[in-house]
Amino acid sequence: MDFLYDQSALRVIFGVGALNRLREELERLGVQRPLFIATPGRRNAAERTSQTLTSMTAAVYSEAVMHVPIISLNAAREAAACHQADSIVSFGGGSAIDTSKAVGLELGIPVVAVPTTYGGSEVTPFYGYTEDGIKKGKRDRKMLPKSVIYDPALTISLPANVSGPSGMNAIAHCVEGLYARNANPVMSLLAAEGIRTLSRSLPIVVKEPSNMDARSNAFYGAWLAGMVLGSVGMAVHHNISHVLGGSFGLPHADIHTVILPHAAAFNRDAAPEAMRIIAEALGAADAAQGLFDLAVRIGAPTSLKQLGMPENQIARAAQLVIEHPYPNPRPVEFAGIRQLLNDAFHGIRPSAKQ
Ligand code: NAD
Repeated sequence: MDFLYDQSALRVIFGVGALNRLREELERLGVQRPLFIATPGRRNAAERTSQTLTSMTAAVYSEAVMHVPIISLNAAREAAACHQADSIVSFGGGSAIDTSKAVGLELGIPVVAVPTTYGGSEVTPFYGYTEDGIKKGKRDRKMLPKSVIYDPALTISLPANVSGPSGMNAIAHCVEGLYARNANPVMSLLAAEGIRTLSRSLPIVVKEPSNMDARSNAFYGAWLAGMVLGSVGMAVHHNISHVLGGSFGLPHADIHTVILPHAAAFNRDAAPEAMRIIAEALGAADAAQGLFDLAVRIGAPTSLKQLGMPENQIARAAQLVIEHPYPNPRPVEFAGIRQLLNDAFHGIRPSAKQ
Protein backbone atom coordinates (compact mmCIF):
# COMPACT_ATOMS: atom_id res chain seq x y z
CA MET A 1 0.00 0.00 0.00
CA ASP A 2 1.23 3.44 -0.92
CA PHE A 3 -1.24 6.31 -1.02
CA LEU A 4 -2.12 9.86 -0.05
CA TYR A 5 -5.52 10.40 1.60
CA ASP A 6 -6.67 14.01 1.46
CA GLN A 7 -10.39 14.41 2.11
CA SER A 8 -11.92 17.76 3.01
CA ALA A 9 -14.13 17.96 6.05
CA LEU A 10 -17.77 18.35 5.11
CA ARG A 11 -20.90 18.93 7.14
CA VAL A 12 -23.73 16.74 5.81
CA ILE A 13 -27.32 16.67 6.99
CA PHE A 14 -29.15 13.70 5.53
CA GLY A 15 -32.75 12.53 5.85
CA VAL A 16 -36.35 13.02 4.83
CA GLY A 17 -37.34 16.50 6.05
CA ALA A 18 -33.70 17.69 6.32
CA LEU A 19 -34.64 20.78 4.29
CA ASN A 20 -36.28 22.11 7.48
CA ARG A 21 -32.74 22.54 8.83
CA LEU A 22 -31.79 25.06 6.14
CA ARG A 23 -32.52 28.12 8.30
CA GLU A 24 -30.44 26.68 11.13
CA GLU A 25 -27.52 26.04 8.76
CA LEU A 26 -27.67 29.62 7.47
CA GLU A 27 -27.91 30.96 11.02
CA ARG A 28 -24.79 28.98 11.94
CA LEU A 29 -22.99 30.95 9.26
CA GLY A 30 -24.40 34.22 10.58
CA VAL A 31 -25.78 35.26 7.18
CA GLN A 32 -28.89 37.32 6.42
CA ARG A 33 -29.13 37.76 2.63
CA PRO A 34 -28.94 34.38 0.87
CA LEU A 35 -29.36 34.16 -2.90
CA PHE A 36 -30.89 30.89 -4.05
CA ILE A 37 -29.38 29.69 -7.33
CA ALA A 38 -31.47 27.21 -9.34
CA THR A 39 -32.27 26.08 -12.88
CA PRO A 40 -35.59 27.32 -14.35
CA GLY A 41 -37.20 23.94 -13.57
CA ARG A 42 -36.52 24.38 -9.84
CA ARG A 43 -37.69 28.01 -9.65
CA ASN A 44 -41.00 27.35 -7.88
CA ALA A 45 -39.51 24.97 -5.34
CA ALA A 46 -36.64 27.40 -4.65
CA GLU A 47 -39.09 30.28 -4.19
CA ARG A 48 -41.27 28.30 -1.82
CA THR A 49 -38.22 27.38 0.25
CA SER A 50 -36.85 30.93 0.27
CA GLN A 51 -40.20 32.16 1.62
CA THR A 52 -39.80 29.97 4.70
CA LEU A 53 -36.74 32.02 5.75
CA THR A 54 -38.91 34.79 7.14
CA SER A 55 -36.23 36.36 9.34
CA MET A 56 -33.86 36.75 6.36
CA THR A 57 -33.87 38.69 3.10
CA ALA A 58 -33.69 35.95 0.53
CA ALA A 59 -33.86 36.17 -3.27
CA VAL A 60 -33.95 33.61 -6.07
CA TYR A 61 -31.94 33.51 -9.29
CA SER A 62 -33.23 30.65 -11.44
CA GLU A 63 -31.35 30.90 -14.73
CA ALA A 64 -28.53 28.42 -14.09
CA VAL A 65 -27.63 26.47 -17.25
CA MET A 66 -26.15 23.00 -17.83
CA HIS A 67 -22.41 22.95 -18.63
CA VAL A 68 -22.36 26.49 -17.19
CA PRO A 69 -21.62 28.74 -20.18
CA ILE A 70 -19.42 31.60 -18.99
CA ILE A 71 -22.15 34.12 -19.84
CA SER A 72 -24.57 32.39 -17.44
CA LEU A 73 -21.93 32.44 -14.74
CA ASN A 74 -21.47 36.17 -15.16
CA ALA A 75 -25.24 36.72 -14.99
CA ALA A 76 -25.48 34.72 -11.74
CA ARG A 77 -22.62 36.73 -10.21
CA GLU A 78 -24.39 39.96 -11.23
CA ALA A 79 -27.60 38.74 -9.57
CA ALA A 80 -25.70 38.00 -6.36
CA ALA A 81 -24.06 41.44 -6.42
CA CYS A 82 -27.42 43.13 -7.15
CA HIS A 83 -29.04 41.40 -4.17
CA GLN A 84 -25.97 42.18 -2.02
CA ALA A 85 -25.98 38.50 -1.19
CA ASP A 86 -23.90 37.42 1.78
CA SER A 87 -24.38 33.72 1.01
CA ILE A 88 -25.61 31.33 -1.68
CA VAL A 89 -28.12 28.51 -1.34
CA SER A 90 -27.51 26.18 -4.21
CA PHE A 91 -30.89 24.60 -4.91
CA GLY A 92 -30.90 21.91 -7.59
CA GLY A 93 -28.64 19.62 -9.59
CA GLY A 94 -25.07 20.02 -10.78
CA SER A 95 -25.90 23.01 -12.99
CA ALA A 96 -27.11 25.06 -10.02
CA ILE A 97 -24.35 23.76 -7.74
CA ASP A 98 -21.47 24.45 -10.13
CA THR A 99 -22.85 27.95 -10.76
CA SER A 100 -23.18 28.49 -7.00
CA LYS A 101 -19.67 27.31 -6.20
CA ALA A 102 -18.25 29.62 -8.86
CA VAL A 103 -20.20 32.66 -7.64
CA GLY A 104 -19.48 31.89 -3.99
CA LEU A 105 -15.76 31.60 -4.72
CA GLU A 106 -15.60 34.77 -6.79
CA LEU A 107 -17.51 36.87 -4.25
CA GLY A 108 -15.95 35.21 -1.22
CA ILE A 109 -19.31 34.24 0.30
CA PRO A 110 -20.35 30.83 1.72
CA VAL A 111 -22.51 28.27 -0.08
CA VAL A 112 -25.03 25.91 1.48
CA ALA A 113 -25.95 23.15 -0.98
CA VAL A 114 -29.36 21.57 -1.28
CA PRO A 115 -28.83 19.00 -4.06
CA THR A 116 -31.80 17.54 -5.93
CA THR A 117 -30.09 15.17 -8.38
CA TYR A 118 -27.45 12.44 -8.00
CA GLY A 119 -24.52 14.19 -9.76
CA GLY A 120 -22.34 14.73 -6.66
CA SER A 121 -21.12 18.28 -7.34
CA GLU A 122 -22.16 19.41 -3.85
CA VAL A 123 -19.12 17.73 -2.26
CA THR A 124 -16.42 18.44 -4.84
CA PRO A 125 -13.90 21.32 -4.73
CA PHE A 126 -14.22 22.15 -8.44
CA TYR A 127 -16.73 23.39 -10.97
CA GLY A 128 -17.00 23.01 -14.73
CA TYR A 129 -17.87 25.81 -17.14
CA THR A 130 -17.92 26.25 -20.90
CA GLU A 131 -15.99 28.90 -22.78
CA ASP A 132 -15.39 29.09 -26.56
CA GLY A 133 -17.00 25.67 -26.99
CA ILE A 134 -14.60 23.94 -24.60
CA LYS A 135 -15.47 22.59 -21.17
CA LYS A 136 -13.01 23.89 -18.61
CA GLY A 137 -12.75 23.59 -14.87
CA LYS A 138 -11.60 25.41 -11.81
CA ARG A 139 -10.47 23.79 -8.58
CA ASP A 140 -10.19 25.45 -5.18
CA ARG A 141 -11.09 24.05 -1.79
CA LYS A 142 -12.54 27.39 -0.77
CA MET A 143 -15.59 26.76 -3.01
CA LEU A 144 -16.74 23.70 -1.03
CA PRO A 145 -20.21 24.22 0.46
CA LYS A 146 -20.19 24.85 4.21
CA SER A 147 -23.11 22.42 4.66
CA VAL A 148 -24.89 19.98 2.39
CA ILE A 149 -28.53 19.15 3.02
CA TYR A 150 -29.64 15.87 1.43
CA ASP A 151 -33.41 15.60 1.67
CA PRO A 152 -34.62 12.60 -0.36
CA ALA A 153 -38.13 14.13 -0.44
CA LEU A 154 -36.74 16.77 -2.83
CA THR A 155 -35.88 14.08 -5.37
CA ILE A 156 -39.37 12.58 -5.61
CA SER A 157 -40.19 15.07 -8.39
CA LEU A 158 -37.08 14.12 -10.38
CA PRO A 159 -38.52 12.34 -13.45
CA ALA A 160 -37.45 8.76 -14.19
CA ASN A 161 -35.68 9.85 -17.38
CA VAL A 162 -33.51 12.26 -15.35
CA SER A 163 -33.15 10.10 -12.22
CA GLY A 164 -31.74 7.08 -14.07
CA PRO A 165 -28.98 8.89 -16.02
CA SER A 166 -28.19 11.07 -13.02
CA GLY A 167 -27.63 7.92 -10.96
CA MET A 168 -25.45 6.50 -13.75
CA ASN A 169 -23.43 9.73 -13.60
CA ALA A 170 -22.80 8.98 -9.93
CA ILE A 171 -21.85 5.38 -10.72
CA ALA A 172 -19.35 6.73 -13.26
CA HIS A 173 -17.54 8.64 -10.48
CA CYS A 174 -17.26 5.38 -8.52
CA VAL A 175 -16.07 3.35 -11.51
CA GLU A 176 -13.30 5.79 -12.37
CA GLY A 177 -12.43 6.25 -8.69
CA LEU A 178 -11.56 2.56 -8.54
CA TYR A 179 -8.91 2.82 -11.25
CA ALA A 180 -7.80 6.39 -10.54
CA ARG A 181 -4.06 6.98 -10.63
CA ASN A 182 -4.31 8.22 -7.04
CA ALA A 183 -6.93 5.71 -5.84
CA ASN A 184 -6.83 4.98 -2.12
CA PRO A 185 -8.38 2.21 -0.04
CA VAL A 186 -10.94 4.44 1.71
CA MET A 187 -12.28 5.95 -1.50
CA SER A 188 -12.33 2.50 -3.10
CA LEU A 189 -14.59 1.29 -0.28
CA LEU A 190 -16.91 4.24 -0.86
CA ALA A 191 -16.84 3.63 -4.61
CA ALA A 192 -17.79 -0.04 -4.31
CA GLU A 193 -20.56 0.78 -1.84
CA GLY A 194 -21.76 3.61 -4.11
CA ILE A 195 -22.06 1.25 -7.08
CA ARG A 196 -23.77 -1.40 -4.95
CA THR A 197 -26.29 1.05 -3.48
CA LEU A 198 -27.09 2.89 -6.70
CA SER A 199 -27.35 -0.20 -8.89
CA ARG A 200 -29.89 -1.68 -6.50
CA SER A 201 -31.93 1.47 -5.86
CA LEU A 202 -32.09 2.99 -9.36
CA PRO A 203 -34.29 0.27 -10.92
CA ILE A 204 -36.79 0.88 -8.08
CA VAL A 205 -36.49 4.68 -8.36
CA VAL A 206 -37.44 4.66 -12.05
CA LYS A 207 -40.28 2.16 -11.52
CA GLU A 208 -41.69 3.74 -8.36
CA PRO A 209 -40.50 7.37 -8.31
CA SER A 210 -42.19 8.03 -4.93
CA ASN A 211 -40.53 5.12 -3.15
CA MET A 212 -38.77 7.05 -0.39
CA ASP A 213 -36.53 4.17 0.70
CA ALA A 214 -35.19 3.77 -2.84
CA ARG A 215 -34.80 7.56 -3.15
CA SER A 216 -32.90 7.66 0.15
CA ASN A 217 -30.60 4.84 -0.90
CA ALA A 218 -29.92 6.44 -4.28
CA PHE A 219 -29.13 9.78 -2.61
CA TYR A 220 -26.84 8.05 -0.13
CA GLY A 221 -25.02 6.36 -3.03
CA ALA A 222 -24.78 9.72 -4.79
CA TRP A 223 -23.15 11.28 -1.75
CA LEU A 224 -20.55 8.47 -1.63
CA ALA A 225 -19.95 8.91 -5.36
CA GLY A 226 -19.51 12.65 -4.96
CA MET A 227 -16.90 12.12 -2.26
CA VAL A 228 -14.98 9.78 -4.57
CA LEU A 229 -15.20 12.32 -7.40
CA GLY A 230 -13.92 15.07 -5.13
CA SER A 231 -11.02 13.02 -3.76
CA VAL A 232 -9.36 11.06 -6.57
CA GLY A 233 -8.66 11.80 -10.22
CA MET A 234 -11.05 10.88 -13.01
CA ALA A 235 -9.95 9.22 -16.23
CA VAL A 236 -10.94 8.58 -19.85
CA HIS A 237 -14.68 8.32 -19.20
CA HIS A 238 -14.90 11.81 -17.69
CA ASN A 239 -12.46 13.07 -20.32
CA ILE A 240 -14.80 11.95 -23.13
CA SER A 241 -17.92 13.11 -21.31
CA HIS A 242 -16.50 16.61 -20.85
CA VAL A 243 -15.68 16.84 -24.56
CA LEU A 244 -19.14 15.65 -25.61
CA GLY A 245 -20.84 18.06 -23.19
CA GLY A 246 -18.68 21.12 -23.72
CA SER A 247 -18.06 20.91 -27.46
CA PHE A 248 -21.22 19.16 -28.70
CA GLY A 249 -23.78 20.35 -26.14
CA LEU A 250 -25.12 16.87 -25.33
CA PRO A 251 -26.90 16.42 -21.97
CA HIS A 252 -24.45 15.71 -19.15
CA ALA A 253 -25.95 12.73 -17.31
CA ASP A 254 -27.14 11.05 -20.53
CA ILE A 255 -23.61 11.20 -21.96
CA HIS A 256 -22.24 9.54 -18.83
CA THR A 257 -24.83 6.78 -19.10
CA VAL A 258 -23.97 6.02 -22.72
CA ILE A 259 -20.18 6.22 -22.43
CA LEU A 260 -19.65 4.37 -19.13
CA PRO A 261 -19.94 0.72 -20.33
CA HIS A 262 -17.59 1.50 -23.22
CA ALA A 263 -15.06 3.25 -21.00
CA ALA A 264 -15.10 0.20 -18.71
CA ALA A 265 -14.57 -2.11 -21.71
CA PHE A 266 -11.74 0.17 -22.91
CA ASN A 267 -9.96 -0.11 -19.54
CA ARG A 268 -10.91 -3.73 -18.88
CA ASP A 269 -7.48 -5.32 -19.37
CA ALA A 270 -5.55 -2.40 -17.87
CA ALA A 271 -7.48 -2.35 -14.57
CA PRO A 272 -8.53 -5.93 -13.79
CA GLU A 273 -8.87 -5.49 -10.01
CA ALA A 274 -11.15 -2.45 -10.42
CA MET A 275 -13.25 -4.40 -12.93
CA ARG A 276 -13.58 -7.29 -10.50
CA ILE A 277 -14.85 -4.93 -7.77
CA ILE A 278 -17.24 -3.14 -10.15
CA ALA A 279 -18.69 -6.43 -11.42
CA GLU A 280 -19.10 -7.74 -7.89
CA ALA A 281 -20.80 -4.54 -6.74
CA LEU A 282 -23.17 -4.71 -9.72
CA GLY A 283 -23.83 -8.41 -9.17
CA ALA A 284 -22.74 -9.02 -12.78
CA ALA A 285 -20.23 -11.37 -14.41
CA ASP A 286 -18.53 -8.53 -16.28
CA ALA A 287 -18.23 -4.84 -15.33
CA ALA A 288 -18.76 -3.34 -18.81
CA GLN A 289 -21.69 -5.60 -19.66
CA GLY A 290 -23.20 -5.13 -16.20
CA LEU A 291 -23.13 -1.31 -16.64
CA PHE A 292 -24.73 -1.57 -20.08
CA ASP A 293 -27.43 -3.93 -18.78
CA LEU A 294 -28.16 -1.59 -15.86
CA ALA A 295 -28.69 1.32 -18.28
CA VAL A 296 -31.10 -0.83 -20.31
CA ARG A 297 -32.91 -1.95 -17.17
CA ILE A 298 -33.55 1.62 -16.01
CA GLY A 299 -34.70 2.71 -19.48
CA ALA A 300 -31.78 5.13 -19.92
CA PRO A 301 -30.24 5.97 -23.29
CA THR A 302 -27.57 3.59 -24.58
CA SER A 303 -26.37 5.30 -27.77
CA LEU A 304 -24.90 8.66 -28.72
CA LYS A 305 -27.17 8.53 -31.77
CA GLN A 306 -30.19 8.79 -29.45
CA LEU A 307 -28.63 11.89 -27.85
CA GLY A 308 -28.30 13.65 -31.21
CA MET A 309 -24.54 13.31 -31.71
CA PRO A 310 -23.72 13.73 -35.42
CA GLU A 311 -21.92 10.59 -36.62
CA ASN A 312 -19.55 12.64 -38.77
CA GLN A 313 -18.23 14.36 -35.61
CA ILE A 314 -16.89 11.18 -33.98
CA ALA A 315 -13.36 11.65 -35.33
CA ARG A 316 -13.32 15.28 -34.20
CA ALA A 317 -14.47 14.29 -30.72
CA ALA A 318 -11.74 11.61 -30.55
CA GLN A 319 -9.19 14.22 -31.59
CA LEU A 320 -10.35 16.63 -28.86
CA VAL A 321 -10.04 13.85 -26.27
CA ILE A 322 -6.48 12.93 -27.21
CA GLU A 323 -5.40 16.57 -27.32
CA HIS A 324 -5.95 16.85 -23.54
CA PRO A 325 -5.87 13.29 -22.21
CA TYR A 326 -6.63 12.62 -18.54
CA PRO A 327 -4.38 10.06 -16.82
CA ASN A 328 -5.89 6.64 -17.57
CA PRO A 329 -4.89 3.04 -16.91
CA ARG A 330 -4.76 2.31 -20.67
CA PRO A 331 -2.98 4.76 -22.97
CA VAL A 332 -5.43 7.16 -24.61
CA GLU A 333 -4.77 7.13 -28.36
CA PHE A 334 -6.85 8.19 -31.34
CA ALA A 335 -7.78 4.80 -32.84
CA GLY A 336 -8.93 3.36 -29.51
CA ILE A 337 -11.02 6.41 -28.61
CA ARG A 338 -12.60 6.59 -32.06
CA GLN A 339 -13.54 2.91 -31.76
CA LEU A 340 -14.98 3.52 -28.27
CA LEU A 341 -17.04 6.46 -29.58
CA ASN A 342 -18.17 4.46 -32.58
CA ASP A 343 -19.42 1.63 -30.35
CA ALA A 344 -21.12 4.18 -28.10
CA PHE A 345 -22.67 5.94 -31.10
CA HIS A 346 -24.38 2.72 -32.19
CA GLY A 347 -25.17 1.59 -28.63
CA ILE A 348 -23.40 -1.75 -29.05
CA ARG A 349 -23.38 -3.91 -25.91
CA PRO A 350 -19.71 -4.45 -24.97
CA SER A 351 -18.56 -7.94 -25.84
CA ALA A 352 -17.65 -10.40 -23.10
CA LYS A 353 -14.04 -10.51 -21.95
CA GLN A 354 -12.09 -12.75 -24.34
P1 NAD B 1 -29.06 19.64 -13.90
O1 NAD B 1 -28.64 20.28 -12.66
O2 NAD B 1 -28.87 20.40 -15.16
O3 NAD B 1 -30.58 19.19 -13.77
C1 NAD B 1 -31.19 18.48 -14.85
C2 NAD B 1 -32.65 18.90 -14.99
O4 NAD B 1 -33.37 18.37 -13.89
C3 NAD B 1 -32.86 20.42 -14.97
O5 NAD B 1 -33.85 20.72 -15.91
C4 NAD B 1 -33.36 20.67 -13.55
O6 NAD B 1 -34.18 21.81 -13.48
C5 NAD B 1 -34.13 19.41 -13.27
N1 NAD B 1 -34.22 19.03 -11.87
C6 NAD B 1 -33.21 19.03 -10.96
N2 NAD B 1 -33.66 18.54 -9.80
C7 NAD B 1 -34.97 18.25 -9.96
C8 NAD B 1 -35.97 17.69 -9.12
N3 NAD B 1 -35.70 17.30 -7.89
N4 NAD B 1 -37.21 17.54 -9.63
C9 NAD B 1 -37.48 17.87 -10.92
N5 NAD B 1 -36.58 18.38 -11.77
C10 NAD B 1 -35.33 18.57 -11.29
O7 NAD B 1 -28.36 18.20 -14.10
P2 NAD B 1 -27.14 17.47 -13.39
O8 NAD B 1 -26.89 16.28 -14.25
O9 NAD B 1 -27.37 17.30 -11.95
O10 NAD B 1 -25.95 18.50 -13.54
C11 NAD B 1 -25.22 18.65 -14.74
C12 NAD B 1 -24.21 19.75 -14.57
O11 NAD B 1 -23.49 19.55 -13.35
C13 NAD B 1 -23.17 19.79 -15.67
O12 NAD B 1 -22.89 21.14 -15.98
C14 NAD B 1 -21.96 19.11 -15.04
O13 NAD B 1 -20.74 19.52 -15.59
C15 NAD B 1 -22.10 19.51 -13.60
N6 NAD B 1 -21.51 18.55 -12.65
C16 NAD B 1 -20.48 18.99 -11.90
C17 NAD B 1 -19.89 18.16 -10.96
C18 NAD B 1 -18.77 18.67 -10.11
O14 NAD B 1 -18.26 17.94 -9.27
N7 NAD B 1 -18.35 19.91 -10.26
C19 NAD B 1 -20.38 16.85 -10.78
C20 NAD B 1 -21.44 16.42 -11.57
C21 NAD B 1 -22.01 17.30 -12.50
